[in-house]
Amino acid sequence: MQQKERYQRLIDYFERTMPVAETELNFGSPFQLLVAVILSAQCTDKRVNMVTPALFERFPTSEAMAEASVDDVFALVRSVSYPNAKSRHLVAMAQMLQRDFGGEVPQTLEELVRLPGVGRKTANVMQAVAWKRAAMPVDTHIFRVSHRIGLVPETAKTPCAVEMILTKNIPSERLGTAHHWLLLHGRYVCQARKPKCEECGLREVCKYFAAGEKAAAKAEKTSNGDKKALKSKKTSEKLA
Ligand code: SF4
Repeated sequence: MQQKERYQRLIDYFERTMPVAETELNFGSPFQLLVAVILSAQCTDKRVNMVTPALFERFPTSEAMAEASVDDVFALVRSVSYPNAKSRHLVAMAQMLQRDFGGEVPQTLEELVRLPGVGRKTANVMQAVAWKRAAMPVDTHIFRVSHRIGLVPETAKTPCAVEMILTKNIPSERLGTAHHWLLLHGRYVCQARKPKCEECGLREVCKYFAAGEKAAAKAEKTSNGDKKALKSKKTSEKLA
């Protein structure tokens, strides 16, 4: 299958089955989204959504969080992964927003990555989710799913390389939604340890699935060959 067809069939499939695809993080403003995304690194959205109501009640804006102590923030986020580093980043990020950006979350990638705790992926999430821009943040799910399906070659070894290829092949107006499609597909269907291929609608376009089918067919052929050889050996012995 040509790559162009693979991408088209993938887009058609998700447009049909997941016309609405959005982040599962809860937030009420770009600042709160940024806080939630920073907290979600190496952590589940479900866990983040458990801590943000109390966190946002106490520190709803960058102004309030810039005044917080790291210990106060830590006490509210201690159940997420890496709470020490994340509390430090949140307070420092809020302070930089106050100092350098008039308390508002900046909208360019270059400005966003200057903020403590914000890397390229988080900055791209802000672009795609907060401002509905054409951006493809590549997390662990999207990295894995893109390789398995065959959307990117094996040589795409970094999230940035995968981001560039997906961005080139997915129409810009679908890019933000495609981010959620691939992420949710990886989270619920094409899971890391055991992909649920039997219930996946992308089997026909998936290279990983095709390779598994091919290997199974080869194993069956070998096993049939072995059985035939054994039978013929037994017949020869009987005749001898
Ligand atoms: S067929 Fe299996 S490996 Fe391929 S995308 Fe679906 S779940 Fe993932």
